Amino acid sequence: MSGEFELINRHFRRRSPRDDVVLGVGDDAALLRPPAGQVLAATVDTLIAGVHFPEQTDPADIGYKALAVNLSDLAAMGAEPTWVTLALSLPHADEHWLHAFAEGFHALAARHRVALVGGDTTRGPLSITVQALGWVPEGQALRRDGARPGDDLYVTGTLGDAGLGLAVLQGRAQVAAQYRAALLERLNRPEPRVEAGLALRRLASAAIDISDGLAADLGHLLAASGVGALVELPSLPRGDAVLVADPHGQLAMTAGDDYELAFTLPPGREGELAALAGRLPPVTRIGRIEASPGLRLVDAVGDPVAFSLQGYDHFREF
Ligand code: ADP
Ligand code: MG
Repeated sequence: MSGEFELINRHFRRRSPRDDVVLGVGDDAALLRPPAGQVLAATVDTLIAGVHFPEQTDPADIGYKALAVNLSDLAAMGAEPTWVTLALSLPHADEHWLHAFAEGFHALAARHRVALVGGDTTRGPLSITVQALGWVPEGQALRRDGARPGDDLYVTGTLGDAGLGLAVLQGRAQVAAQYRAALLERLNRPEPRVEAGLALRRLASAAIDISDGLAADLGHLLAASGVGALVELPSLPRGDAVLVADPHGQLAMTAGDDYELAFTLPPGREGELAALAGRLPPVTRIGRIEASPGLRLVDAVGDPVAFSLQGYDHFREF
């Protein structure tokens, strides 16, 4: 790509906010110094135009979200994010696009003191791949396989906002004008729950981030742990707009892109969770883990509820 080096330098070469970056952007590979006693957490996610975001999305939002979805994965492991690499495929070297993209990306990176240490830039259909690295003390990672019968089930934040925002954007739903901006903010600028992930180390028995919808992602946690769950639909935390659009909780159960954390708490540890209030976003108990596999939904009086729980799955039709 012509002018590639200049573009990389202009937009992606920044002074590292960290002293564990021995060598960042500019050589054949970055040199990083992981601390002793910690294990490296590594994750990667790709966003493709027209699949993961509408073609016309503000490039600053794309830059932000490409990083946010990866920080969310590290958060769900209880890992502290430290370094990221960025592989960009661009149809053309559009200066304005790159400027805005980099601005959104660096804004979130700075907030979490994450260093962009390398990447790759090629010409092709718009696609963004971010790899995020971080660390977690040996034995303290929040995994999917630790939930046990009797644990309580919690989620951070509110559910369904991003899904409703997307539906509004695509003309599939309508909301009162006062809610529109906040829903789109939740869709385009999800807040990765990094602090919550760190705070939940040694407390939560299992955790997962909700990117494909609560039902789908909770299903992964249940399968990995070899357990089931009972979810009390009325307790699903929903903002006002979602409560109106989704009184029964179907959207909250299935909509993707929330990037909240679902986690399980062993019995008797509610006090410790309450003591973390200052370090956590709002957390809500939504049910409990049971021995019998599968996901059971109940209404306010405990009667079973059945509705479709299909989350977003790229390959469902294939
Ligand atoms: P190489 O041919 O050795 O792979 P590149 O020309 O791909 O080198 O990249 C030169 C330098 O710029 C490398 O340090 C690489 O990590 C960095 N780089 C390339 N693209 C990006 C990007 N999109 N974001 C961050 N760093 C990048
Ligand atoms: Mg390269």
